[in-house]
Amino acid sequence: MLAYGKVVHSSTNALMLITAAVIGLLITIVAYQYTIGTEQEHQQLVVAQAATEQRAQLQSSVNSTVEILDSIAKLVAHSDKISSQTFKSFTQPIFKRHAELFALHWIPRVSHNNRDQFERLLNAQGITKGISSLNTQLNSLVSASDREVYYPILYSEPYALNHSVIGLDAYSRRLNAEVIDQLLNGSAEFLSTAPFQLVQDEMDSMSVVFFRSVYDLSSSQEKPVLKGFIAALVKPQILLDKQIKADIGLAIKLEDVTSGSGVQIGVTNHQQSKLAGGSYMTEFMVLGRNWSLQIIGGEEATSGHSSASLILVFGFLFTLMLVVVLSRLMIAHRQVQLERDRAQSYLDTVDTIMLVLDREGCIKMINRKGCEVLGYNPIELMSKQWFSDSFMVDSREEQKRFDVLMSSALVDDNLFLSESKVCTRNGLMRLISWRNNRRFNGKGEVAGVLCSGSDITEQRHAELQDKLRSRAMEATLRGESLSYVLDLVLTGIERQYPGALCSILLLDKTGKHLLNCAGPSIPEGYKTAIHGVEIGDGVGSCGTAAFRRKRVVVEDIATHPYWSLFKDLALSHNLRSCWSEPIFGKKDQLKGTFAIYHEKPSLPSDEDLELITSMAAFISLLIEEFQMEETLLEMANTDGLTGLNNRRKLLESLKGEFVRAKRYDRSFSLCMLDLDYFKKINDQYGHDAGDQVLKAVSDCLVEELRESDIAGRIGGEEFALLLPDTTLSQAAEFSERLRGKVERLSVELRTGEQVTLTTSIGVAEYASAMTLSTDILRLADQRLYEAKGNGRNQVSMGA
Ligand code: GH3
Ligand code: MG
Ligand code: MG
Repeated sequence: MLAYGKVVHSSTNALMLITAAVIGLLITIVAYQYTIGTEQEHQQLVVAQAATEQRAQLQSSVNSTVEILDSIAKLVAHSDKISSQTFKSFTQPIFKRHAELFALHWIPRVSHNNRDQFERLLNAQGITKGISSLNTQLNSLVSASDREVYYPILYSEPYALNHSVIGLDAYSRRLNAEVIDQLLNGSAEFLSTAPFQLVQDEMDSMSVVFFRSVYDLSSSQEKPVLKGFIAALVKPQILLDKQIKADIGLAIKLEDVTSGSGVQIGVTNHQQSKLAGGSYMTEFMVLGRNWSLQIIGGEEATSGHSSASLILVFGFLFTLMLVVVLSRLMIAHRQVQLERDRAQSYLDTVDTIMLVLDREGCIKMINRKGCEVLGYNPIELMSKQWFSDSFMVDSREEQKRFDVLMSSALVDDNLFLSESKVCTRNGLMRLISWRNNRRFNGKGEVAGVLCSGSDITEQRHAELQDKLRSRAMEATLRGESLSYVLDLVLTGIERQYPGALCSILLLDKTGKHLLNCAGPSIPEGYKTAIHGVEIGDGVGSCGTAAFRRKRVVVEDIATHPYWSLFKDLALSHNLRSCWSEPIFGKKDQLKGTFAIYHEKPSLPSDEDLELITSMAAFISLLIEEFQMEETLLEMANTDGLTGLNNRRKLLESLKGEFVRAKRYDRSFSLCMLDLDYFKKINDQYGHDAGDQVLKAVSDCLVEELRESDIAGRIGGEEFALLLPDTTLSQAAEFSERLRGKVERLSVELRTGEQVTLTTSIGVAEYASAMTLSTDILRLADQRLYEAKGNGRNQVSMGA
C-alpha cells in the first residue's frame, strides 16, 4: 500500500544518528584542539611570565648578595684587623635571611713573606695545616706549595659548616683562580665563578662563588693595595627550590653558559620537564658570567591538557548522550509515524477525501481518495499551502473563511460545513462538500482542522440535469415547442458554465441537412446562415460530427481545416472554438448535434467532455419525447392510407380557417370530391386495387396543391380541399384542372392492369353570412351532389 504522508524512513533515521554522532565528535575534537591551543598559548604566557619573574628573583638575589659582599667588604676595608668574632656576628643575621648563601668567606691577600705569620694566625684558630691547597684528585687539602701570593680563607661563616676550608688557598682552585685573576686585572668589582661542587658541601648541588675585591683604603699609595676578597658561596638551587614552592609545576633549569656548553647550576621538577609542553629560555649576566634560565611547563602548567582531556571526555559523553537522546526521539517519532501510518491506512480505506490542515492551512495529511481526486501523489501535497491557486478556484475567499474558522471561539458543535471548488492537477474543477472539524491542542487552542470531503461534482451535474429536465418537462406539458424547451436547457447549461455558447441543430427529415433548433446565445446572423446546411466531411464541427456520427473537437476555428468554408462566418460572429457531439436516438438514429462554442480557442476538459456526453443523451431524450408526441399527433390527424389529413384534422383546419377568415375578413374556398362509380372498381379489381387507386388519386391531389392548401380524406373515396385566400372562381378553375387530371390518370395495378376513373367536385366559397364552419362544408357537399346528378365527371360551383 502506498504510504500516504510517510516521509521519514529508517535509513534516514540511521543517517541522522550517524550525522549527529559525527557532528558531536567533530565539535568535541574542535573544542579539544581549541582548548589545547588556547591552553598552550596560555601556558606559553605563563611560562614566559614565570621565567621573567624567576630571572628577576635570581637577579634580585644576586643583587642582595652583592650588597652583602659590599657591606662586608666595607667593614673589612675600614678596619685594619677584623676578628673572627666580628665577622661571625656581622654575617650571622645574613644567613637567616638568605638561605641560598652557603658561606661567606674573608680571603685576605697573603704574600709569601707573610706566610708564616699568617699560618700562626691560623694556628691560633686551631687550623694546624696552615695555608693549604686543593688536591682535586683526592678532593682533600694539602699544604700549599710555595707561591708569591696566597689567597687563603681566613674566616668562613657559618663556621660549623665551613671550618674545613679555613686556610685553603682559594687560588688553588682553577675556577676561583680565573675569577681572582680577572679581579686583579681590575676588569670588574664583583665576579662570579663557574659553578662547581664545594669541598665542604655534601649536598648534591652546584654552587657558585661571588668574589668582591677589598682594597686597603687607609693606604696612602696611589694604586690601591688589594687586601683580599670577600666571597659568597651561593647555591642557586636553594633559590630555585624556594621558587618552586610558589610556582608549583614549573620545571626550571639554570645553567652557566659562559663557556658555550651549559653547566647546570640548578634544576627543579626535573622529571616533569620531560612532559613539558611550553618552554621559555632567557639568558642574563650574573657578575661576569652568562646564566641561562629555562622554564618548562610542568605537570601543573600543563593543566590545559587535563581540561582539554576533560573536554574530550565530556565531548564523547555528550555525543553519546546526543545519540541516545536522538535515537529515543527517533523511536518515539517512529512510533508516532506508525500511529500516523495506521491512521493513514485507515483513512485510505475511506471513500471520502480526508484532509488534515494545520493552523496556517498547510496540508499535514491527505488520504488516498484525496490524492486520487486531486491527481497528486501524497509527497507532492505534504506541507503545501491548501488555500492557493494551485488547489482552489477562489483561494482568497476560501483562505478568509478558513482564517475566520481558525480564530473563532470554541463552540459545542465543532462541525462546520462548507463547499469549495477545487482544482485538480490536470486543471479540472471539482465541487467538494466539506465537513470540517477543528482540532485543538492541549492548551485548548485551535491547532488545525480535519476536513472530510465528498466530491459532489457529478451529483451537482445530475441535480442540474434534473432541474433542467423538470423545467423542460413543465415547458413541454405547457405545450411549448421543442425549440423553446431546448433553449431553456441550453440557458441552464450556459449559466453553469460561463463562457460556453450552446447550440442544438436537428437533422431534417431527409437526414441530409441540419436545422437550427436551439441556441439561446448563438448570434442570430450565424444561426440564419447555417440553417439547413448539408452535412458532410469538413463541413464545420457539426456538419462533420453528423456526417461521421462522431464527436468533433475544433480548438481553433481560425486554423482548423473543417472550418475552411465557414471560418469567416464564425469569426465574424466572434466564435473561435466549437466542440460538437452527435445526438442519437434510442435506436441509434442520428437526431442532430449538440455543440459548445467559445469565443476563445479552447479545448474541452475531461469534465467538459463528460458534460457534453451526458447533456447530449439528455437532449436526445427530450427530442425523442417531442418527436414521439409529434408522431402520435400526426397519426391522430393523418389518414393511414393516403397520408392526407383525416376527417377530424380537416374539420379542425376548416374551423381554424373559418375563424381566421371571419376575423381578418379573408376569403377561402372548399372543394369536395367523390370518385364516380368507385364501387365498380372495387367490384371489378378487388378492394386492394381500390386502395391503390385511392392512393394514386391522393398523390395526384397533393401534386396539384399549393403549400398553403390543405387536403383531407373525409370519407371512403371522398376528399376535401381547403384553399386559403382563394375565390370561388379560382377554386372552380383549380377543380376543373384537377378533374381533368383525374380523368387522364391511369392507375397501374400490381397485376399490371390499368385503371382509369373520374371524379365529381362540388366547390363552395366562404361567405361572411356563414355562422358555422360546417356551413361551407354543407354547401360544397350540395354542389357535389349536383355534379353527380348532372352526370358526374364535372365540377359544380352552384348557379
Ligand atoms: P357514385 O359515387 O358515382 O354514385 O357511385 P359509387 O359507386 O362511387 O357510390 P358510392 O360513392 O356510394 O360508393 C362508395 C363505395 O366506395 C362503397 C365502397 O365499396 C367503396 N369504398 C368506400 N371506402 C373504400 C375504401 O377505403 N377502399 C375501397 N377499396 N373501397 C371503398
Ligand atoms: Mg362516395
Ligand atoms: Mg362515389
